[in-house]
Amino acid sequence: MIQVLFAASAAEWDDYSNSLPKAFAKAGLDVEISLDIAPEEPALIDYIVYAPSSRLQDFTPFTGAKAVLNLWAGVENVVGNKTLNIPLCRLVDQGLTEGMVEWCVGHTLRHHLGMDRDICRTDAQWDPITPPLARNRRVTVLGLGELGASVATALVALNFDVAGWSRSAKDINGVTCLSGDAGLDAALARADILVLLLPLTGDTENLMNADRLAMMPHGAVLINPGRGPLVVDDALVDALDSGVIGHATLDVFRTEPLPKEHPFWAHPKVTVTPHIASSTRPESAAKVVAENVRRGEAGEPFLFVVDQAAGY
Ligand code: NAP
Repeated sequence: MIQVLFAASAAEWDDYSNSLPKAFAKAGLDVEISLDIAPEEPALIDYIVYAPSSRLQDFTPFTGAKAVLNLWAGVENVVGNKTLNIPLCRLVDQGLTEGMVEWCVGHTLRHHLGMDRDICRTDAQWDPITPPLARNRRVTVLGLGELGASVATALVALNFDVAGWSRSAKDINGVTCLSGDAGLDAALARADILVLLLPLTGDTENLMNADRLAMMPHGAVLINPGRGPLVVDDALVDALDSGVIGHATLDVFRTEPLPKEHPFWAHPKVTVTPHIASSTRPESAAKVVAENVRRGEAGEPFLFVVDQAAGY
Protein backbone atom coordinates (compact mmCIF):
# COMPACT_ATOMS: atom_id res chain seq x y z
CA MET A 1 0.00 0.00 0.00
CA ILE A 2 1.37 3.42 -0.99
CA GLN A 3 1.50 5.86 1.93
CA VAL A 4 0.62 9.48 1.10
CA LEU A 5 0.78 12.26 3.64
CA PHE A 6 -1.60 15.15 2.89
CA ALA A 7 0.20 18.13 4.44
CA ALA A 8 -2.11 21.06 3.81
CA SER A 9 -4.82 22.96 5.64
CA ALA A 10 -8.13 21.48 6.78
CA ALA A 11 -9.85 23.65 4.17
CA GLU A 12 -7.65 22.16 1.47
CA TRP A 13 -8.50 18.66 2.70
CA ASP A 14 -12.19 19.57 2.40
CA ASP A 15 -11.48 20.41 -1.25
CA TYR A 16 -9.50 17.23 -1.95
CA SER A 17 -11.12 14.62 0.32
CA ASN A 18 -13.27 13.32 -2.53
CA SER A 19 -11.22 14.06 -5.60
CA LEU A 20 -7.85 12.75 -4.39
CA PRO A 21 -8.94 9.21 -3.36
CA LYS A 22 -10.99 9.07 -6.56
CA ALA A 23 -8.00 10.06 -8.70
CA PHE A 24 -5.72 7.51 -6.99
CA ALA A 25 -8.31 4.76 -7.55
CA LYS A 26 -8.75 5.76 -11.18
CA ALA A 27 -4.97 5.58 -11.67
CA GLY A 28 -5.07 2.02 -10.28
CA LEU A 29 -3.13 3.01 -7.15
CA ASP A 30 -3.73 1.43 -3.75
CA VAL A 31 -3.13 4.43 -1.50
CA GLU A 32 -3.57 5.17 2.18
CA ILE A 33 -3.80 8.92 2.87
CA SER A 34 -2.89 10.28 6.28
CA LEU A 35 -3.36 13.81 7.56
CA ASP A 36 -1.02 13.69 10.58
CA ILE A 37 2.05 15.75 9.73
CA ALA A 38 3.92 14.14 12.65
CA PRO A 39 3.19 10.46 12.01
CA GLU A 40 4.62 7.75 14.31
CA GLU A 41 6.64 6.26 11.46
CA PRO A 42 7.50 9.13 9.07
CA ALA A 43 9.99 6.94 7.23
CA LEU A 44 7.08 4.91 5.82
CA ILE A 45 5.58 7.90 3.95
CA ASP A 46 6.11 7.51 0.19
CA TYR A 47 4.82 10.89 -1.07
CA ILE A 48 3.99 14.20 0.57
CA VAL A 49 1.14 16.16 -1.00
CA TYR A 50 1.96 19.64 0.17
CA ALA A 51 0.74 23.21 0.45
CA PRO A 52 3.45 25.73 1.38
CA SER A 53 1.14 27.13 4.09
CA SER A 54 1.40 23.75 5.87
CA ARG A 55 2.84 23.55 9.38
CA LEU A 56 5.14 20.84 8.03
CA GLN A 57 8.45 22.62 7.47
CA ASP A 58 10.98 19.90 8.36
CA PHE A 59 11.16 17.14 5.77
CA THR A 60 14.11 15.30 7.38
CA PRO A 61 12.04 12.61 9.20
CA PHE A 62 10.50 11.49 5.88
CA THR A 63 13.50 9.43 4.83
CA GLY A 64 11.53 7.12 2.53
CA ALA A 65 9.64 9.85 0.66
CA LYS A 66 10.15 9.92 -3.11
CA ALA A 67 8.72 13.37 -3.86
CA VAL A 68 6.92 16.38 -2.47
CA LEU A 69 3.91 17.13 -4.67
CA ASN A 70 2.98 20.78 -4.30
CA LEU A 71 -0.69 21.73 -4.55
CA TRP A 72 0.12 25.29 -5.64
CA ALA A 73 1.69 26.61 -8.86
CA GLY A 74 3.99 28.97 -6.91
CA VAL A 75 6.78 27.33 -4.92
CA GLU A 76 8.62 30.33 -3.47
CA ASN A 77 7.66 29.38 0.10
CA VAL A 78 9.06 25.85 -0.09
CA VAL A 79 11.75 25.75 -2.78
CA GLY A 80 14.45 27.17 -0.46
CA ASN A 81 13.67 24.74 2.39
CA LYS A 82 17.08 23.30 3.31
CA THR A 83 15.53 20.07 4.63
CA LEU A 84 14.04 19.31 1.24
CA ASN A 85 16.39 17.03 -0.71
CA ILE A 86 13.95 15.01 -2.78
CA PRO A 87 12.20 16.14 -6.00
CA LEU A 88 9.66 18.93 -5.57
CA CYS A 89 6.90 18.92 -8.21
CA ARG A 90 4.74 21.99 -8.66
CA LEU A 91 1.16 21.99 -9.81
CA VAL A 92 0.44 22.49 -13.45
CA ASP A 93 -3.29 22.06 -13.82
CA GLN A 94 -5.44 22.63 -16.87
CA GLY A 95 -8.17 24.24 -14.75
CA LEU A 96 -5.66 26.66 -13.23
CA THR A 97 -4.33 27.60 -16.65
CA GLU A 98 -7.78 28.16 -18.13
CA GLY A 99 -8.77 30.31 -15.16
CA MET A 100 -5.64 32.45 -15.52
CA VAL A 101 -6.19 32.90 -19.25
CA GLU A 102 -9.76 34.07 -18.65
CA TRP A 103 -8.75 36.49 -15.89
CA CYS A 104 -5.87 38.01 -17.87
CA VAL A 105 -7.86 38.30 -21.10
CA GLY A 106 -10.75 39.87 -19.19
CA HIS A 107 -8.60 42.52 -17.53
CA THR A 108 -6.65 43.18 -20.72
CA LEU A 109 -9.90 43.75 -22.62
CA ARG A 110 -11.21 46.00 -19.85
CA HIS A 111 -8.26 48.36 -20.28
CA HIS A 112 -7.99 47.97 -24.04
CA LEU A 113 -11.64 48.89 -24.57
CA GLY A 114 -11.70 51.59 -21.89
CA MET A 115 -14.64 49.86 -20.26
CA ASP A 116 -14.42 51.88 -17.03
CA ARG A 117 -14.62 55.11 -18.99
CA ASP A 118 -17.64 53.95 -20.94
CA ILE A 119 -19.57 52.06 -18.29
CA CYS A 120 -18.82 53.99 -15.14
CA ARG A 121 -19.52 57.50 -16.44
CA THR A 122 -21.67 59.59 -14.13
CA ASP A 123 -21.54 62.93 -15.86
CA ALA A 124 -24.07 62.14 -18.62
CA GLN A 125 -21.60 63.39 -21.21
CA TRP A 126 -21.93 61.90 -24.68
CA ASP A 127 -18.27 61.62 -25.56
CA PRO A 128 -17.64 58.59 -27.75
CA ILE A 129 -14.04 57.44 -27.95
CA THR A 130 -13.35 54.62 -30.36
CA PRO A 131 -10.73 52.27 -28.92
CA PRO A 132 -8.02 51.02 -31.25
CA LEU A 133 -8.38 47.53 -32.59
CA ALA A 134 -6.51 44.83 -30.69
CA ARG A 135 -4.09 44.54 -33.60
CA ASN A 136 -2.90 48.04 -32.73
CA ARG A 137 -2.57 47.39 -28.97
CA ARG A 138 0.77 46.12 -27.79
CA VAL A 139 0.60 43.70 -24.87
CA THR A 140 3.68 42.25 -23.21
CA VAL A 141 3.64 39.18 -20.99
CA LEU A 142 6.63 38.77 -18.67
CA GLY A 143 7.06 35.03 -18.09
CA LEU A 144 6.29 32.54 -20.85
CA GLY A 145 5.82 29.41 -18.77
CA GLU A 146 2.69 27.29 -18.44
CA LEU A 147 0.53 30.31 -17.67
CA GLY A 148 2.29 33.13 -19.54
CA ALA A 149 2.53 31.19 -22.80
CA SER A 150 -1.19 30.30 -22.64
CA VAL A 151 -2.18 33.89 -21.88
CA ALA A 152 0.03 35.22 -24.70
CA THR A 153 -1.45 32.69 -27.13
CA ALA A 154 -5.03 33.62 -26.15
CA LEU A 155 -4.25 37.31 -26.68
CA VAL A 156 -2.77 36.53 -30.10
CA ALA A 157 -6.01 34.75 -30.96
CA LEU A 158 -7.82 38.03 -30.27
CA ASN A 159 -5.39 39.83 -32.61
CA PHE A 160 -3.42 41.71 -29.95
CA ASP A 161 0.16 42.58 -30.84
CA VAL A 162 1.85 40.35 -28.24
CA ALA A 163 5.42 40.08 -27.01
CA GLY A 164 6.69 37.88 -24.20
CA TRP A 165 9.84 37.64 -22.14
CA SER A 166 11.41 34.62 -20.49
CA ARG A 167 14.78 33.42 -19.19
CA SER A 168 15.39 31.00 -22.05
CA ALA A 169 14.62 31.80 -25.70
CA LYS A 170 11.18 30.66 -26.86
CA ASP A 171 9.29 30.21 -30.11
CA ILE A 172 5.54 30.71 -29.68
CA ASN A 173 3.33 31.14 -32.71
CA GLY A 174 2.37 34.79 -33.19
CA VAL A 175 4.29 36.03 -30.13
CA THR A 176 7.43 38.15 -30.36
CA CYS A 177 9.59 36.17 -27.93
CA LEU A 178 12.33 38.04 -26.10
CA SER A 179 14.84 37.04 -23.44
CA GLY A 180 17.83 38.44 -21.59
CA ASP A 181 18.38 41.98 -20.28
CA ALA A 182 18.14 43.65 -23.69
CA GLY A 183 14.99 41.64 -24.34
CA LEU A 184 13.44 42.97 -21.15
CA ASP A 185 14.11 46.58 -22.13
CA ALA A 186 12.50 45.99 -25.52
CA ALA A 187 9.57 44.12 -23.96
CA LEU A 188 8.84 46.99 -21.57
CA ALA A 189 9.32 49.77 -24.14
CA ARG A 190 6.43 48.39 -26.24
CA ALA A 191 4.09 47.42 -23.39
CA ASP A 192 0.87 49.42 -23.64
CA ILE A 193 -0.42 46.69 -21.31
CA LEU A 194 1.99 44.61 -19.24
CA VAL A 195 1.01 41.27 -17.69
CA LEU A 196 3.32 39.81 -15.03
CA LEU A 197 3.37 36.02 -14.95
CA LEU A 198 6.82 35.44 -13.52
CA PRO A 199 7.52 33.28 -10.50
CA LEU A 200 8.98 34.95 -7.43
CA THR A 201 12.71 34.19 -7.25
CA GLY A 202 15.85 36.06 -6.21
CA ASP A 203 16.16 37.26 -9.81
CA THR A 204 12.58 38.47 -10.26
CA GLU A 205 11.95 40.10 -6.86
CA ASN A 206 11.56 43.89 -7.26
CA LEU A 207 11.95 43.54 -11.04
CA MET A 208 9.38 46.27 -11.67
CA ASN A 209 11.17 49.13 -9.94
CA ALA A 210 10.92 52.85 -10.73
CA ASP A 211 13.39 52.64 -13.63
CA ARG A 212 11.61 49.76 -15.33
CA LEU A 213 8.15 51.24 -14.81
CA ALA A 214 9.45 54.39 -16.50
CA MET A 215 10.57 52.37 -19.54
CA MET A 216 6.95 51.60 -20.40
CA PRO A 217 4.96 53.93 -22.68
CA HIS A 218 3.51 56.86 -20.73
CA GLY A 219 0.18 55.89 -19.15
CA ALA A 220 0.64 52.14 -19.71
CA VAL A 221 -1.37 49.58 -17.73
CA LEU A 222 0.20 47.05 -15.36
CA ILE A 223 -1.63 43.80 -14.61
CA ASN A 224 -0.03 41.62 -11.93
CA PRO A 225 -1.41 38.15 -11.29
CA GLY A 226 2.13 36.79 -10.71
CA ARG A 227 3.44 37.62 -7.24
CA GLY A 228 3.33 40.85 -5.21
CA PRO A 229 7.09 41.32 -4.66
CA LEU A 230 7.72 41.41 -8.43
CA VAL A 231 6.70 45.08 -8.12
CA VAL A 232 8.16 47.75 -5.83
CA ASP A 233 4.99 49.11 -4.20
CA ASP A 234 6.20 52.67 -3.51
CA ALA A 235 7.61 53.00 -7.02
CA LEU A 236 4.27 51.91 -8.46
CA VAL A 237 2.32 54.42 -6.37
CA ASP A 238 4.70 57.19 -7.49
CA ALA A 239 4.37 56.08 -11.13
CA LEU A 240 0.57 56.11 -10.87
CA ASP A 241 0.57 59.54 -9.22
CA SER A 242 2.79 61.02 -11.91
CA GLY A 243 0.88 59.38 -14.79
CA VAL A 244 3.83 57.22 -15.87
CA ILE A 245 1.50 54.28 -15.26
CA GLY A 246 -2.16 54.81 -16.10
CA HIS A 247 -3.68 51.99 -14.08
CA ALA A 248 -2.60 48.92 -12.12
CA THR A 249 -4.74 45.83 -11.69
CA LEU A 250 -3.21 43.81 -8.89
CA ASP A 251 -4.20 40.33 -7.73
CA VAL A 252 -1.16 39.52 -5.58
CA PHE A 253 0.60 41.46 -2.83
CA ARG A 254 3.63 41.40 -0.57
CA THR A 255 1.33 40.81 2.38
CA GLU A 256 -1.94 38.95 1.84
CA PRO A 257 -4.63 39.82 2.66
CA LEU A 258 -3.57 43.33 1.61
CA PRO A 259 -3.39 45.35 4.87
CA LYS A 260 -6.24 47.84 5.35
CA GLU A 261 -3.89 50.81 5.52
CA HIS A 262 -2.08 50.00 2.26
CA PRO A 263 -2.24 52.87 -0.26
CA PHE A 264 -3.35 50.52 -3.05
CA TRP A 265 -6.83 50.21 -1.51
CA ALA A 266 -7.77 53.86 -1.86
CA HIS A 267 -5.78 54.70 -4.98
CA PRO A 268 -8.14 55.72 -7.80
CA LYS A 269 -5.90 54.12 -10.41
CA VAL A 270 -5.55 50.75 -8.71
CA THR A 271 -7.87 47.76 -8.98
CA VAL A 272 -7.34 45.26 -6.18
CA THR A 273 -8.52 41.68 -6.55
CA PRO A 274 -8.02 39.21 -3.65
CA HIS A 275 -5.61 36.66 -5.18
CA ILE A 276 -8.33 35.10 -7.27
CA ALA A 277 -6.79 35.33 -10.74
CA SER A 278 -6.79 31.58 -10.82
CA SER A 279 -7.28 28.80 -8.32
CA THR A 280 -6.31 25.19 -8.41
CA ARG A 281 -9.33 23.09 -9.34
CA PRO A 282 -9.32 20.01 -7.09
CA GLU A 283 -10.85 17.69 -9.72
CA SER A 284 -8.15 18.29 -12.32
CA ALA A 285 -5.35 18.93 -9.80
CA ALA A 286 -5.96 15.59 -8.05
CA LYS A 287 -5.42 13.83 -11.38
CA VAL A 288 -2.02 15.54 -11.75
CA VAL A 289 -1.00 14.46 -8.23
CA ALA A 290 -2.16 10.89 -8.91
CA GLU A 291 -0.27 10.79 -12.20
CA ASN A 292 2.94 11.78 -10.43
CA VAL A 293 2.45 9.07 -7.80
CA ARG A 294 1.83 6.57 -10.60
CA ARG A 295 5.02 7.72 -12.30
CA GLY A 296 7.00 7.46 -9.08
CA GLU A 297 5.80 3.89 -8.54
CA ALA A 298 6.51 2.93 -12.16
CA GLY A 299 10.02 4.41 -12.01
CA GLU A 300 9.11 7.01 -14.64
CA PRO A 301 10.27 10.64 -14.42
CA PHE A 302 7.99 12.96 -12.45
CA LEU A 303 6.09 15.74 -14.20
CA PHE A 304 6.69 19.43 -13.42
CA VAL A 305 9.82 19.00 -11.31
CA VAL A 306 11.01 22.31 -9.89
CA ASP A 307 14.56 23.42 -10.62
CA GLN A 308 15.49 24.04 -7.01
CA ALA A 309 18.62 26.01 -7.95
CA ALA A 310 16.67 28.36 -10.23
CA GLY A 311 13.89 28.64 -7.63
CA TYR A 312 10.94 27.75 -9.88
P1 NAP B 1 6.40 28.56 -14.99
O1 NAP B 1 5.78 27.58 -15.92
O2 NAP B 1 7.48 28.11 -14.09
O3 NAP B 1 6.90 29.78 -15.89
C1 NAP B 1 7.69 30.80 -15.39
C2 NAP B 1 8.14 31.67 -16.54
O4 NAP B 1 8.90 32.76 -16.00
C3 NAP B 1 9.05 30.93 -17.52
O5 NAP B 1 8.81 31.35 -18.83
C4 NAP B 1 10.44 31.38 -17.07
O6 NAP B 1 11.41 31.37 -18.09
C5 NAP B 1 10.16 32.80 -16.66
N1 NAP B 1 11.22 33.28 -15.75
C6 NAP B 1 11.54 32.81 -14.53
N2 NAP B 1 12.58 33.51 -14.03
C7 NAP B 1 12.90 34.43 -14.97
C8 NAP B 1 13.89 35.43 -15.06
N3 NAP B 1 14.77 35.62 -14.06
N4 NAP B 1 13.96 36.17 -16.16
C9 NAP B 1 13.08 35.98 -17.19
N5 NAP B 1 12.11 35.04 -17.17
C10 NAP B 1 12.04 34.27 -16.07
O7 NAP B 1 5.29 29.22 -14.04
P2 NAP B 1 3.73 29.35 -14.32
O8 NAP B 1 3.04 28.07 -14.05
O9 NAP B 1 3.54 29.98 -15.65
O10 NAP B 1 3.32 30.38 -13.17
C11 NAP B 1 3.87 31.68 -13.09
C12 NAP B 1 3.53 32.29 -11.75
O11 NAP B 1 2.14 32.65 -11.71
C13 NAP B 1 3.66 31.36 -10.55
O12 NAP B 1 5.01 31.24 -10.14
C14 NAP B 1 2.81 32.05 -9.52
O13 NAP B 1 3.63 32.98 -8.84
C15 NAP B 1 1.78 32.81 -10.34
N6 NAP B 1 0.41 32.30 -10.13
C16 NAP B 1 -0.54 33.14 -9.66
C17 NAP B 1 -1.84 32.70 -9.47
C18 NAP B 1 -2.92 33.62 -9.02
O14 NAP B 1 -4.05 33.20 -8.75
N7 NAP B 1 -2.65 34.91 -8.91
C19 NAP B 1 -2.19 31.36 -9.77
C20 NAP B 1 -1.18 30.52 -10.24
C21 NAP B 1 0.11 30.99 -10.42
P3 NAP B 1 11.88 29.99 -18.79
O15 NAP B 1 10.68 29.57 -19.63
O16 NAP B 1 13.04 30.37 -19.60
O17 NAP B 1 12.17 29.02 -17.68
